[in-house]
Amino acid sequence: MIKVDQNLCIGCGTCVALCPKGFQMNAEGKSDAISQEDLECAKNAAASCPTQAIIVE
Ligand code: SF4
Repeated sequence: MIKVDQNLCIGCGTCVALCPKGFQMNAEGKSDAISQEDLECAKNAAASCPTQAIIVE
């Protein structure tokens, strides 16, 4: 399961840049997980997220 904690996300866009098929900015300017398919990319994005807002479990 890939998800983004909306309370932690600061909308930096790093995860969207790294995994454009996995994450998308929403109307609040935060990131949403839009696909569960690429766990490896999501893990990479999670490691690069400045606020540890991406949960991969
Ligand atoms: S990398 Fe983290 S803080 Fe930046 S947009 Fe993605 S989830 Fe939000």
